[in-house]
Amino acid sequence: MRIDIISALPQLLESPLGHSIVKRAIQKGVAEINVINLRDYSTDKHRSVDDAPYGGGAGMVLMIEPVARCIDKLRSERNYDEVIYLSPDGELLDQQISNKLSMLHNIILLCGHYKGIDERVRTHFVTREISIGNYVLSGGELPAAVLCDSIIRLLPGAISDETSALSDSFQDGLIAPPVYTRPADFRGLQVPEILLSGNTPEIEKWRHEESLRRTKERRPGMI
Ligand code: SAM
Repeated sequence: MRIDIISALPQLLESPLGHSIVKRAIQKGVAEINVINLRDYSTDKHRSVDDAPYGGGAGMVLMIEPVARCIDKLRSERNYDEVIYLSPDGELLDQQISNKLSMLHNIILLCGHYKGIDERVRTHFVTREISIGNYVLSGGELPAAVLCDSIIRLLPGAISDETSALSDSFQDGLIAPPVYTRPADFRGLQVPEILLSGNTPEIEKWRHEESLRRTKERRPGMI
């Protein structure tokens, strides 16, 4: 899978994409992530990509010209399944959306900044808008990194034990059961006996019951 991320502040993506599972997936060739500096598509000598809003008011707006030039260039090189604009008022990201996006081949993620992006980009270039929650961040880079991570960990080969991502919360409509590791006794805090029993069918039964209990407790709407 290839993900092209268009950003006016690409440095913000370096750390989230440069470690752990995402980094390894890129190294293994499971995913290709290409971060594009929107300023490279500015025609102005200051490399500016934003301007004041028509009608006045606070904040700057990302201009359509550099964004259009950048998307046109990418589209001239390959077909994209989606051009996704990260936006607080987009559809709310959940596991089902990440699962579906993980089956695509090429996507563009467009990060807004300042007051947002010229509306004509949204109506004429963007095919989908995704929000990571009902709150406002300063830019689309962290939401893009969240979306990338949630997609990439699902790609075959990204995680060494592929069943791991499938047993995470929300995958089967349930919250994941609690997990423990050594020591079995920490200051009198015991690991549940069943997990030490070696009885795999009983352990699986316990995990399923714990998943159900947690889901009823924490996300009753999912049941
Ligand atoms: N004026 C916009 C509004 O009220 O909806 C907010 C703009 S925000 C300061 C700048 C950029 O951050 C947005 O264009 C978007 O790309 C990104 N952003 C902020 N919060 C987000 C969220 N919850 N989900 C996805 N993207 C978000």
